[in-house]
Amino acid sequence: MASTLEIAIFPCLSDNYGLLIHDKESGETAAIDTPEVSAIEAECGRRGWTLTQIWNTHHHWDHVGGNLELKEAHGLSITGPHQEDRIPGLDRGVAGGDYFNFGAHEVRVIFTPGHTRDHIIYYVPAAEAAFVGDTLFVIGCGRLFEGSAEDMFGSMAAIADLPDETKLYCAHEYTLSNAKFALTIEPENEALVAYVERAKVLRAQGLPTVPTTVEMEKRINPFMRAASAERLGQIRQAKDSF
Ligand SMILES: [Zn+2]
Repeated sequence: MASTLEIAIFPCLSDNYGLLIHDKESGETAAIDTPEVSAIEAECGRRGWTLTQIWNTHHHWDHVGGNLELKEAHGLSITGPHQEDRIPGLDRGVAGGDYFNFGAHEVRVIFTPGHTRDHIIYYVPAAEAAFVGDTLFVIGCGRLFEGSAEDMFGSMAAIADLPDETKLYCAHEYTLSNAKFALTIEPENEALVAYVERAKVLRAQGLPTVPTTVEMEKRINPFMRAASAERLGQIRQAKDSF
């Protein structure tokens, strides 16, 4: 991949990931959500990157909590779901199907309701990467706080539609607990069993299991593999009380 784009992932709060994307050519740097200002500032400082944008996926506090402080400090521009009035400092509202430029690169917005009614994700084809917020986790999906199983079923399908090699950057490290649950749903899934062993090794070394890929999630994620919205709803309910 000949790209001028670089992505940084680093832990924030108890189990969030901070995510940055940087374009060497234009000098632009975007934070995908703002879980923890100090961790975001430290990562930018370490890499010599200057924050110019925030891309919010949804309004939860652990995703927008640092918006105003970072905007104040850097005069940056904030992009988020257009019909959402719960994004502090929102400058540019975007909807599913929209795209915008990041340096010379295109960013596509995909509407993924379910976790919240206005959740969006950001797909950057030149980086072969998508920032999926709290819609998809490795071997899991977000809780249905504001949307229905039908909503999340459509959102899983939209992510599955991305090219197989697309790297999926989730906003939390929930993999090992998701794995325990997924193994009760598909105990015979060999890809899942093998993946879980690798994830255990990564976590034992303190390494992230994020990003995952579209191809991997199609093989191991019971929510993406659910054959119907009804089935996804059943599994989600079972997971909520697991
Ligand atoms: Zn959330």
